[in-house]
Amino acid sequence: MSENTKKTEEQQEGMLNKYALVLTSIKGIGVKTFSYLIPEDLKPKIKIGQPLLVPFGRMGLINAFVVGFSNYLPEGIKAKNISKILDETPIFDVDYLKFLEWVADYYFCSIQNVLECAVPLKFLNAEKKELSQKFVEFVTFGNANKRQKEILELLEQTGKINIADFEKAAKTTRATLKKLENTGCIKITEEKIYRNPLEIFKTNNPPEPFPKLTEEQTAAYEKIESHLGSYEKILLHGVTSSGKTEVYFKAIQEVLKQGKNVLFLAPEIALASVLTKRLAKRFGTEITAIWHSGISEGEKFDVWQKIKNNEIRILAGARSAVFAPLKNIGLIIIDEEHESAYKQTMPAPRYDARTVAQKLAQLNNAPLVLGSATPDVSSYYYAKNTGSLIKMKKRYNDYPLAKVRVIDMKEERFRANNGIFSKALVNAVEENLRDKKQTIILMNRRGFSTYTQCLACGEVIQCPNCAIPLIFHSQTQTLKCHYCDHEEPMPVKCPKCESEALKNCGTGVQKVELIAQKLFPDAKIVRLDSDALAKKNLHIEILDEFSKGNIDILIGTQMLAKGLDNPNVTLVGVINADNSFNLPDFRSSERGFQLLTQVAGRAGRGDNPGEVYFQTYNPEFFALETAKEQDYESFYKTEIQSREDFDYPPFSKIIRIILSSKNQYRAERSAQEIAMRLNDVVNKMQISEPLSILGPVACVIEKLQERYRFQILIKNKLEEKGHRFIHSFLSQIKLPDDIKLTVDVDPLDIL
Ligand code: ADP
Ligand code: ZN
Ligand code: ZN
Repeated sequence: MSENTKKTEEQQEGMLNKYALVLTSIKGIGVKTFSYLIPEDLKPKIKIGQPLLVPFGRMGLINAFVVGFSNYLPEGIKAKNISKILDETPIFDVDYLKFLEWVADYYFCSIQNVLECAVPLKFLNAEKKELSQKFVEFVTFGNANKRQKEILELLEQTGKINIADFEKAAKTTRATLKKLENTGCIKITEEKIYRNPLEIFKTNNPPEPFPKLTEEQTAAYEKIESHLGSYEKILLHGVTSSGKTEVYFKAIQEVLKQGKNVLFLAPEIALASVLTKRLAKRFGTEITAIWHSGISEGEKFDVWQKIKNNEIRILAGARSAVFAPLKNIGLIIIDEEHESAYKQTMPAPRYDARTVAQKLAQLNNAPLVLGSATPDVSSYYYAKNTGSLIKMKKRYNDYPLAKVRVIDMKEERFRANNGIFSKALVNAVEENLRDKKQTIILMNRRGFSTYTQCLACGEVIQCPNCAIPLIFHSQTQTLKCHYCDHEEPMPVKCPKCESEALKNCGTGVQKVELIAQKLFPDAKIVRLDSDALAKKNLHIEILDEFSKGNIDILIGTQMLAKGLDNPNVTLVGVINADNSFNLPDFRSSERGFQLLTQVAGRAGRGDNPGEVYFQTYNPEFFALETAKEQDYESFYKTEIQSREDFDYPPFSKIIRIILSSKNQYRAERSAQEIAMRLNDVVNKMQISEPLSILGPVACVIEKLQERYRFQILIKNKLEEKGHRFIHSFLSQIKLPDDIKLTVDVDPLDIL
């Protein structure tokens, strides 16, 4: 279909329909769609994506935008007239809306949910002020008088300049300049200015040059290059520091040359910021932009406009950047593709940016490049079976991978060391401090301890809303729930027996910090975890201080396993390496392997060889052993076999249904009923083998935020057909108000 016929069709939609479906965001009601009558005079103009004013009850006129058309109204509804089209240029087009509809469909949620997550609600504000700036420019001396000539001479020298700045510099007034404009001596223009979060990176330095790629990098690049122009999912499996970023950059350069745009995702805001800085230095601030949930609505609004004007050629961001309206995409890159942060768990849409990006790449006929040192097992399986796997085995500069030692903590206990640090690790840290080298200590658990118990009666203090122990935080001297926002002062007495014998048991990262301070009193020690990040950008500041060498020991949770590239780090200690493996979840081995391999990769990035210590009670566990050797292939072989044995992804796709209620019995009963009905249909259709239904069972976290939770797992081996089947089954379900049904498609955990 040519552009022209498509346009007329879009315009005809307004002509052919009586009602427009509009999206609004109202305090207390939320984001919702309503139907409005299209007045005759607006019919030829109205289009999908236009911002509107519509009357809404006692609130008077409110903002909305067009998301659809229809000739019918739901029963019992009377539609009012649309008052006004605010701007005839749509904010998005039909294709974009269709893309969002696909997302809503795939994740079993409403288009409103997706729109709310995708489009800056700023568009729904009445005063959508566009900031502008006036410039002044020299034209001719004409017949200017002496004073005017002085001004004109100065302007000729400075060139086009902000008018207010020029007034100051030339010690003149706006009135004088207006006169000069009237006589044609100067030109005053007004230009839109954008709030660009990248302003801070702006320099006058020329773009950084591209380094010469190594042989391995060249081969990787050439493979990607050969796929430009069509869809393919490519996996770049490169060990940490193999120089994947340089491969991406070379590919970006080529895509830009071909006149197309690039979307580049990083798993977290902090990493996206670092990445954007690198991109801006290489390709220029003007054509690069950043997009994530942390930038303000105003900034998003501006970046959105620039994207629509095709001024942005490279968009970097965290997961929500897949919803930016970038057009003409020639390449999508997802770095550290194994990260769970690509999946939004709360609220709906519970989307996985990798899946959405795949759809986007297909729509654009562009390759999707996934990169990781420890790929998602499903990504690896797919890439191996389709021949779209690229490997980079060498670190840039051939720095060897760090040597890993596994410390069996059972033996430490036997030697009567009851401390958190093994003797070997303490010695290594001391030596490292003497050598003025830096150390990273990983303890992947927030808070001070893991539970608080009364030694008199055995009571473990639990969150009143969730069936989960509360966790002591030493900074605030409070007990916090890590699943809801409950927080209470640390009690003096046991709430059950009033004994004062309360003990904070188990180890969290704050306890490790405290003990490290005692063990290494002269070292500069800083903790990095989400509790330490009270301030925006503190993460970056800490990492910055660390890379400047101002911190001797950085202690933290999984946060510090990522993106850190610091040649002076020669020692990494992992305090409780078992932590990640011990969750009752099908991906726990994978997650543990990834975390340990990634954190081990932080050591020995420079000329000094690295040393890594994994402390564990379970040294024979396969994921730990393979992480020790940093041997992905061996890990993969064992893991993929167990996935196949138990029909977990990639051998099936999981749909998780949770029924929750404040009443435990009612939650359980409704879950049983739905499971029974589902089983009935599936048995009747004789698809119970490829569409197996498990449960209901109580969730591992049985009570969350005051609601009891029961889950049904569906393992779907029927691909799209099974997906559609479950979708239509669930859309027919009607539940009483006190029972909530949530669906998580492709969940990353099933806790
Ligand atoms: P990865 O993303 O695979 O972990 P990076 O792309 O960050 O690795 O590269 C690791 C380091 O090696 C970086 O400091 C990078 O600048 C450097 N590097 C990689 N490739 C080259 C190259 N071809 N020439 C010069 N330096 C390189
Ligand atoms: Zn007690
Ligand atoms: Zn809680």
